[in-house]
Amino acid sequence: MKLTLSETAAALSGAKKLVVTAHVNPDGDAIGSTLGLMHLLRGLGKDVTVLLDDDIPAGFHVLPGYDVIRRPSEDEKIACDLFVVLDTMTDRIGKAAASVHAPRLINIDHHHTNPGNDKEDLYLDATRAATCEIIYDLAKEMDATLSKEAAMCLYTGLATDTGFFRFSNAASHTYRAAADLLDAGAQPNVISEALEVKPLQTVKDLGEALSQMEMFADGKASGIFLTQAQTARMESTESFIGHIRVIDGVDVAVVLKCKEPELCRVSMRSKHVDVSRIATMFDGGGHVRAAGCTLKMPFEQAKATIMEAIEKAIREGWIA
Ligand code: AMP
Ligand code: MN
Ligand code: MN
Repeated sequence: MKLTLSETAAALSGAKKLVVTAHVNPDGDAIGSTLGLMHLLRGLGKDVTVLLDDDIPAGFHVLPGYDVIRRPSEDEKIACDLFVVLDTMTDRIGKAAASVHAPRLINIDHHHTNPGNDKEDLYLDATRAATCEIIYDLAKEMDATLSKEAAMCLYTGLATDTGFFRFSNAASHTYRAAADLLDAGAQPNVISEALEVKPLQTVKDLGEALSQMEMFADGKASGIFLTQAQTARMESTESFIGHIRVIDGVDVAVVLKCKEPELCRVSMRSKHVDVSRIATMFDGGGHVRAAGCTLKMPFEQAKATIMEAIEKAIREGWIA
C-alpha cells in the first residue's frame, strides 16, 4: 500500500520499539538515513535498533551513532512493533530481512524504480534527492527536534547522493533542508573531510583501474571492468566511476566488478541516457543518472552483456 507523508509519520510516532535498516553495500544516504531516523526517534523516547548487513566504511566514523550500528545475525531474531527499510526496495537488505520479527514493515525510499508490493507499506518520494531528505520531511511532520546528532547524519545523505550538491537531483528543497540541518549543528567540512580520506592503496588501485579503462559506443561510453581477482584485492572502488564519467563526450560510465565466478556488480552514471532503464532490464534499479544491477553470469559474458545494453540505450536514445 502507498502511504502519504502524514500516514508514515503517524506510523513512526505510534510505534514504541523499532528496527531500522537500509541496503547492503551501504552509502552515505543508507547510513545517514538509518542513523538520522534513529536519533529522531530516540529523541521521541523510542527504543530503536539499527541493523546493516555489511561493513560500514571507516570514513563514516564521524557520524554520531556509527558505533551502535549492528550487523544482523541468523541466530538472533529481534522483535519490534515496526520494521523500517530505507533507501532501497525491501529485497536488498541482506540478513536483516530474516532477523527481524515485526507485525508491520514500512519502506521509505526515493528510487522511482521501487515497485513496492501488496504486503508492505511504501512511502516513496522520487522528487527527493536522498532518503535523508525524506527523513527531514518526516522530522517536520512529526514535530521532532533536529538534534545535532540527527543533523550530522541527515546532512551526510543529502551531500553524498547529490555529489556534494553538484548533481541535477539537488533541488531548492534539498538546499533548504541542508541549511536547516546546518542551523541544527551539522558540520559539512567535518563530514566531507572524513569522507574524502582514502588509504594510499585505494589511490594506487584507482591508477590500475584507470589504466585499463575502455572507451566504447563511439566514445560515448567509458568502462572499468574488474576481474574477480582485482575485485577481491581492491578494498574500495566506489570512487572510480566519478573519474570516468567526466571524460569529454562520455554519456554513460560503467564500473563492473566480478564478485563471484558467476556474479558481477554493475554501477552506471550518465549525463543524458536513463541508466535506471538499463538497470531495470537486469532486475536492478536506481535513478535516471545513477543506477546499478547485479548480473548472474561470468565476467566476460557480464562485460559483453552490459556493454551491449549501454550501446543499445545510446543508439536508441533512451533519454528520460
Ligand atoms: P551505485 O552505483 O551502487 O552507487 O548505485 C547507484 C544507484 O542505483 C543507487 O541509488 C543505488 O541504490 C541504485 N542501485 C544500485 N544497485 C542496485 C540494485 N542491484 N538494485 C536496485 N538499485 C540499485
Ligand atoms: Mn543508497
Ligand atoms: Mn539514496
